[in-house]
Amino acid sequence: MTSLPTSTERKLGLVIDLDTCVGCHACVISCKGWNTENYGAPLSDQNPYGADPSGTFLNRVHSYEVQPAQGAAQLIHFPKSCLHCEDAPCVTVCPTGASYKRTEDGIVLVNESDCIGCGLCAWACPYGARELDADEGVMKKCTLCVDRIYNENLPEEDREPACVRTCPAGARHFGDFADPESNVSQLVAERDGFDLMPEQGTKPVNKYLPPRPKDQLDGEIDVLAPLLVPVAENPTGFFAWLDKTLDRL
Ligand code: SF4
Ligand code: SF4
Ligand code: SF4
Repeated sequence: MTSLPTSTERKLGLVIDLDTCVGCHACVISCKGWNTENYGAPLSDQNPYGADPSGTFLNRVHSYEVQPAQGAAQLIHFPKSCLHCEDAPCVTVCPTGASYKRTEDGIVLVNESDCIGCGLCAWACPYGARELDADEGVMKKCTLCVDRIYNENLPEEDREPACVRTCPAGARHFGDFADPESNVSQLVAERDGFDLMPEQGTKPVNKYLPPRPKDQLDGEIDVLAPLLVPVAENPTGFFAWLDKTLDRL
């Protein structure tokens, strides 16, 4: 079994904003792309264009309809990848030392050449964040794009995880949770960021920001109604010009 560092110098991880995630899956595709083109062996797919496709994805998005006590149902999009836990059971369960947590930045990685594909770490992870690559026979997981964030061959602005760089909604944030002044620490403090399944005792580094309360509407709203009402009896400005222009047609 493999030991964990008692502490790490930095705690690199993600903040994911469930209020602004729109479930577009761009982060899923950019993760798959980067880690297929640039990280060891490609993330394999099985029968990708058949009736029952499957494949290795290090980041997945699940969508749920949630019915609050009052008001309309809401769609919540929930991106999920490794949370780089401080007390990572996937590491301590590993019989070969292939799974490990880095002392310098807290990233949890798999040394594929030492992995025997036993799958114990996948059973130990309460979040379902590990993926056994069916073609390679080794365990794969989010690396926090360790090959991007320190990569001096990339422009400075690209030295963050591919999912963060790609997200069009700005719902994903990368930084150091050991620094209370960092962007991620401040977001968590301001928006009541929370741990996923804290009862598991894994102390996840990644945090989620909860959806903000939605406006409550009294009664039915006809969204077309404002468009069907005359703007004004005697329109002025742009609407006056538009009226005159349409009259001439
Ligand atoms: Fe391990 Fe799962 Fe925690 Fe990632 S989320 S560190 S795979 S227990
Ligand atoms: Fe360790 Fe690989 Fe087994 Fe996971 S699948 S516990 S990384 S040897
Ligand atoms: Fe959500 Fe951003 Fe991922 Fe799209 S790219 S699913 S908005 S986290």
